[in-house]
Amino acid sequence: MAAPIALEAGLETLRSTFGYDAFRGQQGEIIDQVLGGGDAIVLMPTGGGKSLCYQIPALARQGTGVVVSPLIALMHDQVSALRAVGARAEFLNSTQDSAERSRVEQALLAGQVDLLYVAPERLALESTRRLLDNVHNAGGLSVVAIDEAHCVAQWGHDFRPDYLTLGDLGERWPDVPRIALTATATEATHRELAMRLRLDDAKHFVSSFDRPNIQYRIVPKDDPRRQLLSFIKNEHDGDAGIVYALSRKSVEQTAEFLAAQGIKALPYHAGLDARVRAANQSRFLRDDGIVMVATIAFGMGIDKPDVRFVAHIDLPKSVEGYYQETGRAGRDGLPSTAWLAYGLNDVVQQRRMIETSEGDEAHRRRLSANLDAMLALCETVDCRRRQVLAYFGQNLAEPCGNCDTCIEKPETWDGTVPAQKLLSTVVRLQRERGQRFGGGQIIDILRGKTTPRTTQHGHDKLATWGIGSDLAEQQWRGVLRQLLAQGLLAVADDGYGTLVLSEGSAGVLSGSTKVELRKESPKAARSAGSGSA
Ligand code: ADP
Ligand code: ZN
Repeated sequence: MAAPIALEAGLETLRSTFGYDAFRGQQGEIIDQVLGGGDAIVLMPTGGGKSLCYQIPALARQGTGVVVSPLIALMHDQVSALRAVGARAEFLNSTQDSAERSRVEQALLAGQVDLLYVAPERLALESTRRLLDNVHNAGGLSVVAIDEAHCVAQWGHDFRPDYLTLGDLGERWPDVPRIALTATATEATHRELAMRLRLDDAKHFVSSFDRPNIQYRIVPKDDPRRQLLSFIKNEHDGDAGIVYALSRKSVEQTAEFLAAQGIKALPYHAGLDARVRAANQSRFLRDDGIVMVATIAFGMGIDKPDVRFVAHIDLPKSVEGYYQETGRAGRDGLPSTAWLAYGLNDVVQQRRMIETSEGDEAHRRRLSANLDAMLALCETVDCRRRQVLAYFGQNLAEPCGNCDTCIEKPETWDGTVPAQKLLSTVVRLQRERGQRFGGGQIIDILRGKTTPRTTQHGHDKLATWGIGSDLAEQQWRGVLRQLLAQGLLAVADDGYGTLVLSEGSAGVLSGSTKVELRKESPKAARSAGSGSA
């Protein structure tokens, strides 16, 4: 077997081209597999060093390596970075004019390209495939790399239909090794991508997904911008970071707010002018201490080693998304923070979005299961890292010691009676057909708070009026949120976020289900400091 010699060539490229001394983690084994002509599936966390796994085979083997990458916006950066180390890298995409495209095509046919980046929709075109057939027959193709390969999984969090066309490349160029890479690692996604890309004989390389230098913290949301500000000021003043928000509007407002408070914050979302987006991205990459406030449109493929924190001011839709986004912190291995503020409205809003979303019932169930896992992570009293890794099918023997629940073990309390009071109120409101009430009204009723809305609807006559005056409003919000998170209460599919009983509610009302809740001190909710609640 020629493997050791092949790997020797890989090591030589690692040193001479990239200037690194040794392979990291499984890089050596992966590169050995591909250099030897075999296929590979690589599951490695963000920052793990996936790029070299295909760049080195592309450089060390004869011919051109084809790299499928989903984001045109990033190709330019990737190609520049490779050129800076002397590799002959090019891309083909829709931003090029025909003169530029034909220059690249000529270079390809002349065997002068080590790495070619292409978007999946371009590789789906028969004209591109024919061009690459010719390259294959002339100088040869060294490897086909499929980056962000989870995009082929229909049930994943990032599905791109164009990825489905990549399944037949193995038949088209049977002698060219293929390598599929992703930082998304659930069993389901893993199986689906192997199947759809028809990588039946590939060797699978599953790295540990643990990122020990990232501290995970989830705090109850109170006044998210203030909380975010004090988190940044107290712990990451002057550091580079990413703040994720759900909507474009919230991105812009948060960026403005932070900038007004003296933080170098820039917005990024798909609705911004392409030039503004590119300028903000390059400032983030090149300047020190920029805080990028962004929707999840930002980040994939961004390689900035010293991002010191990733903050979410809205709840991510899945643990996969959360882990991929937080994984953009601390690629350099130095201590970093993943901070999330999460509240009642997040749950209501996301449940409502799922209930009213397009797509069939199976799709909604899938979204719902994703959200449930995310909520369970938010509400857990156990080690967060352990829970995330378990979600990806990996075990952590001991609690990590570097997440908020490890640093300060949350207390729990028996919330059965308050839960019964709350659910009884929902029952009574549900009987008033045609009226829609969210959490605020329910809490006002429980606390016996007279408002125009409670008076107008005669809610002060309800049997549950004022029976919950022993808890503060903030505490009730915590109860409500946790009941929703645990599925003991539901959001109706009426598009208004009306709260209704769930299947689990009956057990609580009858007393057969005990409700255990996290204790949240109002102080912890306000100060981002210790982050525990
Ligand atoms: P991923 O694509 O898995 O998120 P990258 O390929 O961008 O990760 O690598 C993350 C960082 O680690 C990059 O800055 C890269 O240069 C660096 N890196 C990768 N492999 C090695 C290595 N063997 N030695 C030193 N640094 C490495
Ligand atoms: Zn922990």
